[in-house]
Amino acid sequence: MILIHNANQVVTVASFGGKFKRGREQGEIFVIERGSVLIRDGKIEWVGRAIDFNFGLYSEVEIIDATGKVVLPGFVDSHTHLVFAGTRENEFDLRIKGFTYQQIAEMGGGILSTVKRTREEPKESLLETAHNYAKIALSYGTTTIEIKSGYGLNLDDEVKILEVANELNGNPIFTIPTFLGAHAIPPEFKGRKDDYVKFLIDKVIPEISKRKLARFCDIFCEDGYFTPDDAEKILNVGRRFGLLPKIHAEQFSNYGGVKVGVKVGAISIDHLENISDEDIQLLSKADSVAVLLPGVSFFLDYQYPPARKLIDSGVPVAIATDFNPGSCMSLNVQLMMTIACTQMKMTIEEVITAVTLNSAGAVGISDIAGSIEVGKRADVLIFNVADYRMIPYFFGINHIDAVFVRGKRVGIKASA
Ligand SMILES: [Zn+2]
Repeated sequence: MILIHNANQVVTVASFGGKFKRGREQGEIFVIERGSVLIRDGKIEWVGRAIDFNFGLYSEVEIIDATGKVVLPGFVDSHTHLVFAGTRENEFDLRIKGFTYQQIAEMGGGILSTVKRTREEPKESLLETAHNYAKIALSYGTTTIEIKSGYGLNLDDEVKILEVANELNGNPIFTIPTFLGAHAIPPEFKGRKDDYVKFLIDKVIPEISKRKLARFCDIFCEDGYFTPDDAEKILNVGRRFGLLPKIHAEQFSNYGGVKVGVKVGAISIDHLENISDEDIQLLSKADSVAVLLPGVSFFLDYQYPPARKLIDSGVPVAIATDFNPGSCMSLNVQLMMTIACTQMKMTIEEVITAVTLNSAGAVGISDIAGSIEVGKRADVLIFNVADYRMIPYFFGINHIDAVFVRGKRVGIKASA
C-alpha cells in the first residue's frame, strides 16, 4: 500500500459515477486541502483529509510525503496520432516563410509524405520511436493515451500501426487504439475515393475487427477528404464490427461532421474550429464529448474552437494534444492547458476537467480513470507546486514530481 500523504491540495475531479461533466459542472473539481490518497492493488483505496487518515486500520503503508505539493488524476490524452515515421520540420520552415498548405502538398509534403515514410518503416523501429514518444508524454503527466492509425492507408500498414499501438499498452502508459483508415486518400486510389471507401468497408474494417486491434473507428470528415455521407457509411459499418465511432469534424470548414457524429452516436467529436451555432445546439443535447485541440490552432496560427460557447451551452469539453508530425508536434498536456486558458477563455478548473475526466469520457474509460475516486485505477500525478493554478500559470515548464500508473511509481525521464 502507498499513501500519498498531506498534499497541499488533492484535486479529485470527482464525478460520482458521471461519465463526464458538462456546463457549470465542468468547473467543479473538488479540491481537498491537506489531503491524502491511499493506493492498494493498483487502485484508489481511500481519499480524504490527511488528519482523517486512520493509520491504525492499515499496516505496512509506504508513505510518500506530498507536503506542499499538488496531486491530480493522471492526464488522459484523448486524441493523438502517435505512431508514425519521420518528421516534417521542413514544412514548418516553409509555412513560416509563407508557403501555403496546398503548395507544400504539391512539393510532396503533407499527410501523404508521412504515409510514405511510415509504410517504409519496419515495425520494430516504428515501435521504438512510438515508445520514446509515449515516454515523453508520460514525463508531462499523461497516463493514458489514445492513438490513431491513418499513416498506413492500406491493410498491412494500418495493421502494423495498430499492432504498435497495442504493444505499447502498459509500457508504461495505457494506450487506446483507434482505426483511422479514412484519414486521407492513398496515392494508389487517387481520384477514386469511392473505391477506397468501399475497400475500407469490405476489407479493412472487418480485418481490424477480427484481429481486435482497435476500440474506435474515426474519420477525417473534411472538404477534399471524406464527406459526411462517407462518414455515416464508414462509422456505421465500424460500429457493426464493434468499433465505436469518433469523428474529425469542422476543422477547416463547416462541412457537416457534427451532424453525422451526433446521428451515429459518436463517443467524441473532435476539432470544431468551424462549428456553427446550430451544431453547438445539436451537440448540447447529445452525449458526445467535444475534444478540442488548442495545440493545432497555436501551431498552425489558425482560429480556435469556441470553447466558451460550447461549455456555456452545456457541451462536455475535453482537451487533447493531437500529437502528429504536421500540425502539433507536442505531447505536453500542461502547455495545452495554458493555451486553452489564454486563447479559448476556459477557466483553470474547466481545463483540469477537460484533460482528466472529460478526456477519459472521450475514450470510454471514465468508469476506471479520469478522477481520484475510490475504486478507480490509481493513475495519479504529484506536482511540485503548492496550488493547482500554478500548473497552467507556469507555461512550458514541467512541474511533475512523480507519476503513478496503476499504483506503481514510474520513471519520468524521457529522451526528447
Ligand atoms: Zn487528429
